[in-house]
This record gives sequence, structure tokens and C-alpha cells, in this order.
Amino acid sequence: MALDSTRKSAIRERLGFYRELGIGPLYRREVSADSSSPDLGEELVELVAAVSDVVSEEQEQAAQEAYLPTGDNRKARLQAILDDIGPNCQRCKLAKQGRKQIVFGTGDPNAELMFVGEGPGADEDEQGLPFVGRAGQLLNNMITAMGLKREQVYIANIVKCRPPGNRTPERDECETCSPFLMRQIRVIRPKIIVALGATAAKNLLAVNDSMAALRGRFYDFSPKRSTPTLSSAAADDKGGAPEDSGEPFDCKLAVTYHPAFLLRDPRQKGEAWKDLQMVMKFLGLNAPEKK
Ligand code: URA
Repeated sequence: MALDSTRKSAIRERLGFYRELGIGPLYRREVSADSSSPDLGEELVELVAAVSDVVSEEQEQAAQEAYLPTGDNRKARLQAILDDIGPNCQRCKLAKQGRKQIVFGTGDPNAELMFVGEGPGADEDEQGLPFVGRAGQLLNNMITAMGLKREQVYIANIVKCRPPGNRTPERDECETCSPFLMRQIRVIRPKIIVALGATAAKNLLAVNDSMAALRGRFYDFSPKRSTPTLSSAAADDKGGAPEDSGEPFDCKLAVTYHPAFLLRDPRQKGEAWKDLQMVMKFLGLNAPEKK
């Protein structure tokens, strides 16, 4: 029996609950609903019995591996973050302002290069994927010009829900969503992040400078660790998230123009190309030969 995502999520929640109680890792054992354990209490016995009823040992172990900060299974660890956000996240007001779905991020979980935009637009909201509209088409061209394929990079946004009428996401919305992006970055461990546009740059760097001041240099970037307030199951005793290996991590960050801006002002494409060439040099990439 394959573990569906609802069940995985339920198991993760439960394992998180056990961890919070300082119990675990857990492996399947026969526990009948009427067995009593003076140590664990009736409720916990029922929970263990419920887990044992629905999953095999391998399935439970797989769920634990996805939940616990072990190994380098980045895909599963990203899935754990998505599960933690939940399909119907209500943490900020964007949830009630017409978004259809959460746009988590896409690409190679082992990518060396990560792009971070502002927030989903109408096309992204429709498809559940970042940068799939006109700006996305231009971003794809920028990636190709760098000698890469879209599938080789990772693409995400500052906020995961569409702001109404494509307005700029507000400070509280960015702050609420940002811990999940920080967790994604700590799982992916890119060599460099390219912030697309002022909103992405200002939020990632926590500065309020103009694009002119922000572009043209590398920053040292270290994704902030979340405080343990994300959800019942999300925080570990180090104040981190369950999928977090706890390894220190930092990378470079560069800033360039947002593709939507470049669509409005194509004369700036040359400047954006300079930014991307700086990134390519850092990554040891050569532009593909023109056919
Ligand atoms: N603009 C963004 O900032 N992000 C997207 O995903 C699409 C357009």
C-alpha cells in the first residue's frame, strides 16, 4: 500500500507529537487498543495503536526519515516543509484574498543555483508552479542563456500565495511566509541565490536600498533559522525545523531585475545579463554557443 500524502502528513504530525514528548524514534510494534502503559498514558497508547494499524514498518520508517533530520533526502525534506505549510494555509491574509493554491517552488532539490521571485501571479496561482506566465518565459530564456535548463535550478518566491491584483506582498505576509523559504534554502543548499527584483532582494537581505545600489555585487547570505512557532510539529529543540540537518549553511546572493520589469523595460536586459554573467563566472558556467 502506497502512503498517500494525507496519511504521510498525519503520521508526520503524530511523530512530531511524539518527538515533542521526547519519545522516539518509534518503530512498529504490536499495541492493542486496550493495552495500558502507565508511562505513556491512554491517549498515547491509542495513537501508537493507530499508527501501527495503518502503516507497515517500512512505511513508518520512510515517514520518519522524511520527518527526522536524517540523511540527505532533499526531496522528502522539501515535501515535509510543504506538508507543514498544508494545502490550505491560513497563516496570513493572502489566504482570504482569492488565492487558489499555494505555489511552493520547483526544480532540482540539489540545485547550485536558486532564483527567488516576489510572489505568484495569476498563471502561477492557476498552475501551482512559480514563473510559468510571461515573466516565467523570460526567466526560462535567461536560464537557457546561462547554459542551464530550468529543471537544473530551483525557483521559489518570497510569498507562496498570490497577492490580489498582483500587488506587492506586504511586510507581514512576507514575514509570515519567509520561514518556509528559509527552510527550503537550508534543504537545497544552493551555492548562490539570485534575487529577482527589489521585493525579493529587500526581503532576503533585510535592507531597503534601491536596485541600483543592490545590483552588481555578491552578498554572503545565511538563511535565518525559524523560531519554534511554525506548527505543533515543526520545531525541534534547537529552534529549527524537523527536516533541518542543523549543519551551518551560508551561500552567495546576487540581485538582478525581475523578469516582469524587464518585459516592461527591455532596455535593461543588458544590465540583467551582466548580473547573470557575474553569477555564471562564480558557478564556472559558460554561455552556450549560438547556433
Ligand atoms: N512573478 C514572481 O515574482 N513570481 C512568480 O512566480 C511569477 C511572477
